[in-house]
Amino acid sequence: MFQTTIARESSVEGVGLHTGVCGRVRLVPAPAETGIVFRRVDLENFPIEAQGHNVARVSYATSLMKQGVLLSTTEHLLAAIYSCGIDNIYIDIDSIEVPILDGSAEPFMQMLEHSGIRRLRRKRRYLKVLRPLQVSEGDRRIGIYPADEFRVRCYVDFPHPLVGQQEVEMLVSPDTFRHLLARARTFCFERDIEPLRAMGLIRGGSLDNAIVLTQDGVMNGPLRFPDEFGRHKALDLIGDLALAGLPLLARVEAHKAGHSLHTQLVSRLLADPSLWTVTTGEARRTQTDAYLTALSQAPASAAD
Ligand SMILES: [Zn+2]
Repeated sequence: MFQTTIARESSVEGVGLHTGVCGRVRLVPAPAETGIVFRRVDLENFPIEAQGHNVARVSYATSLMKQGVLLSTTEHLLAAIYSCGIDNIYIDIDSIEVPILDGSAEPFMQMLEHSGIRRLRRKRRYLKVLRPLQVSEGDRRIGIYPADEFRVRCYVDFPHPLVGQQEVEMLVSPDTFRHLLARARTFCFERDIEPLRAMGLIRGGSLDNAIVLTQDGVMNGPLRFPDEFGRHKALDLIGDLALAGLPLLARVEAHKAGHSLHTQLVSRLLADPSLWTVTTGEARRTQTDAYLTALSQAPASAAD
């Protein structure tokens, strides 16, 4: 239960989904207690911490802003870093938006695999949720509940023959994220493309970085999973929960939610310290140990 960083640097270059601006991201090892920090290398390394109080806009992507300096579309990269259990990292970037690459978190997972993980000599601190918190907007809602591990449940419902109702429920770990979510790509409806372009968004969008849903099918198949849409929403959720600033010990349930509700949940959680505590995880391990001891001592017939 020690803090981690990456062992070596890695970088990638690509276009931003919304701005269409090309940028380079470089992942750099960071010392203990740094957290996840973006640095705008085009602005004298201006740091923007990946934390709830820096959330700015959350319409079609999550953007961070600090002292007027903006950084857009952080969610896929943060989902990969957070799921991999990396506590401390600098994300050096020379533009206003994280590259969209193939629309999923897989290229970022490949970068992290190349970088490797290094253990630091400082105990990891967790944000352990003690009391539930819910946020809702009409029929969309999200809640966070006490748990001894980090779990998410994500439910989506889009009136489309290929989507409909999809639900993903999982314990978040590097393995589950890699196998179940990382490859799921972002998506949009063909009918929304012109309105979004008119709003100045998706300037970097293409058939190579987003699934485009037509009236009754998909323009650029095949899908990577039959329920790729629900999986991608769960990926987005984890990327936004990374803004809690510490690994969570909590269960999060999202029902037709999106970036706005995800980030509202994080902001309200952090704003009310009676809802959580910061722990080094000793209590968690003690509980697990006690449980394992009880199991080993129970008579065999008591099982099942
Ligand atoms: Zn996304």
